[in-house]
Amino acid sequence: MNHYQPTETSSYMQIMLEHTSVGMAVYDALDLCLLEANTTFLTIFENLLTPYWQHGKILGHCLTDWCFIKNDLSPRHHSEAVLHHVIEVFHTVAQTGIPYRGAEYAAGNDQNGPRYWNWAVDPVRAPDGHIVYLVHTASEITEQIRARKQAEQENFVLAQTNSTVEAERKRLEVIETVARCVRDSQDAVHLGNITIEAIRTHFHANSACLHIADSAQRVLRLLCSYPSTDEDEALKRLEYIPFESMVIGRQAAPRSGGASLVVGRDQAQGEPKRDPVVIEDMQDVSGSGRNIHASLIQMGRGYICVPLWFGDQFEGTLCAIFPTPIRSSGPEVRALVGSGIHIAAALAQVRLQTLIEREHSRLRAILDQLPEGILIAEVSNGTINYANPAAAQILGIALPDLIEVPLHQHPWSKGRKEEAPESQAILPWNFVVVRALCGDTIKSKETLVVRPDGSKVVTLTSSAPLYTDDGIMTGAMIVFQDVTMQKSLEQHKNDFLSIANHELRTPITVIQGFAEILQLKGSQDRSLDPLTTYALTSISEQSQHLTHLIEEMLDISRIEQAQFTLKRSPRDLLALLRRAIESQAITTRQHTLHLVLEGLPSTDTLVGFIDEGRMIQVLNNLVSNAIKYSPCGGDIEIGLRSSEEEPHEALIWVKDHGIGIAAHEMQNIFKRFHRAGNIDRSTSGFGIGLYLVKEVVVRHGGRVWVESTEGKGSTFYVMLPLNTPGGF
Ligand code: ADP
Repeated sequence: MNHYQPTETSSYMQIMLEHTSVGMAVYDALDLCLLEANTTFLTIFENLLTPYWQHGKILGHCLTDWCFIKNDLSPRHHSEAVLHHVIEVFHTVAQTGIPYRGAEYAAGNDQNGPRYWNWAVDPVRAPDGHIVYLVHTASEITEQIRARKQAEQENFVLAQTNSTVEAERKRLEVIETVARCVRDSQDAVHLGNITIEAIRTHFHANSACLHIADSAQRVLRLLCSYPSTDEDEALKRLEYIPFESMVIGRQAAPRSGGASLVVGRDQAQGEPKRDPVVIEDMQDVSGSGRNIHASLIQMGRGYICVPLWFGDQFEGTLCAIFPTPIRSSGPEVRALVGSGIHIAAALAQVRLQTLIEREHSRLRAILDQLPEGILIAEVSNGTINYANPAAAQILGIALPDLIEVPLHQHPWSKGRKEEAPESQAILPWNFVVVRALCGDTIKSKETLVVRPDGSKVVTLTSSAPLYTDDGIMTGAMIVFQDVTMQKSLEQHKNDFLSIANHELRTPITVIQGFAEILQLKGSQDRSLDPLTTYALTSISEQSQHLTHLIEEMLDISRIEQAQFTLKRSPRDLLALLRRAIESQAITTRQHTLHLVLEGLPSTDTLVGFIDEGRMIQVLNNLVSNAIKYSPCGGDIEIGLRSSEEEPHEALIWVKDHGIGIAAHEMQNIFKRFHRAGNIDRSTSGFGIGLYLVKEVVVRHGGRVWVESTEGKGSTFYVMLPLNTPGGF
């Protein structure tokens, strides 16, 4: 058995020293001469020494000799100060006897980087107590150090990830806070305060402010800020910023005191840009020669201004200043940009809401001031949800009693039975409301309002249903115009006319009668001289003319009092035309009247179900006008057409070559009392004839119209149905 057996204790010691992983060396305590070192120690230093000292040549030499050499120790140990410190340690231990425990020490490299050692210096005392040797130990801790450094590195990465996550959390929290507030509230100031508070608490902003844009006036108004304007004088200057004073991009605030808000601005158009302005560090920017207003720099380092855009509308700005520099891609910037989207939408909504409300109150003010009464009724239950003061006055009901009460529950909607029969001829006003709520449109209908106090008002009422854009009916609008005054004036006028007519008719009939008697007597006994004969003829003609005028006046009264009725019977239209031509032909010598027939022979008849007297009146009117308004004489054509295509209609026309009618007058000549501007004012007439013509023709179910060229002549047409609608 070949068993290695050391023979002496020192040999065991030798083995221990040689095989320990700890480097060990012994120095003379006096001169620090290296007396002995184990292999591990020498190996450690081998790599650190210049070739001269390698291979154990340091044994027997002072530490100071081989230590202060320019070697390839790690940079830390190149420092002479460090080497001095090492020597110092050895001397101190030698003098004080206090062992030294060195901290980690980097020396040498392997393929993975520097190696690390713990080193210690211990005194060895002689029996008399004084220190004779110093024992220097160096144990390798490279693995531990590397493990620690890796752990530190991992911790660092983890901390970085954590801070990114934390920043992201803060960013999302700010945006979520703002978004929640936008959902819950429509109050812009509240939203602004919540936003600013979130920015302040999550990102420790020194200052933050929300401005709202007034595009019409081209100014930004401060909506809310931190600190408040009461707490910070500088912010007072930001209360009102004209667009023109907004500073462009990084050129920052104006030199001369004024408001300082750095907003991106399109230089060409002067409008704010869409991109946020981020000044990462205002001190750097100011140091770089760019001009940032001192008041801004005093407020902090990092600056953000986010322009708030909703579609194409600039709604305002959200700005914040942070105590430390920020990054363009930092969480603060992203939080403000993210919140900005929500705030812009909320501000747009508030703006539109305000606009609608303003428009609404403007419309309401207009409606409130209108002299016409306006009601708006709800379709669901007939409740009147709007009435203007004029409506309340016309209806004789106080506004509060009128609104919010369903129509059928109003006390005034009942009790129509006691009304006088003549009142019942006119529609009650609430009937119009009901019809409007059924979807009918009514235009200027004469209606009677019986007020709760019994008084009556005649109104012209119009109504129309109200629809949403989708075509759903939501209610109805009713407009009243009080025409009581006009109505009573008209009534008085009609009363006067009919009294006057009656009073005039009797004396005229008497005058006409006596004139005719005298004419008859004169022609029998030939006793009248020519002047008297002429005078009597004139009296007779003029009183006939007067009778005619009075008749026309009476007709107007009859029409207005709904007493104008037709007495229709089957009559030959052709015969009527011939009678009219005969009677009119004798009134003129300058004109030639001739009959033109189309679609029927002159021997034939054309029977219509008509009021003969009224139709004669129509024809006489048209023919006498043709004569009257052709002062130079000429042909007058009276025509009648019956066609096979329209066998139930007859077309009558009267054509002259007189003064004609100007285009702009055409629509008025059938209105009563209207006379065109081109007539000779001495021409007799009241402007009643055509009005009556139209009334008579329309009441027969026909139409009347005119074609005319001023200066060339006119043709009046009458289209007349021959039968009653039910067949005759
Ligand atoms: P008047 O008593 O004035 O003739 P009418 O009602 O018969 O009243 O006619 C109204 C107006 O129409 C006349 O004043 C005249 O200006 C115009 N008018 C009617 N017929 C003719 C016509 N044949 N030619 C030109 N103008 C006419």
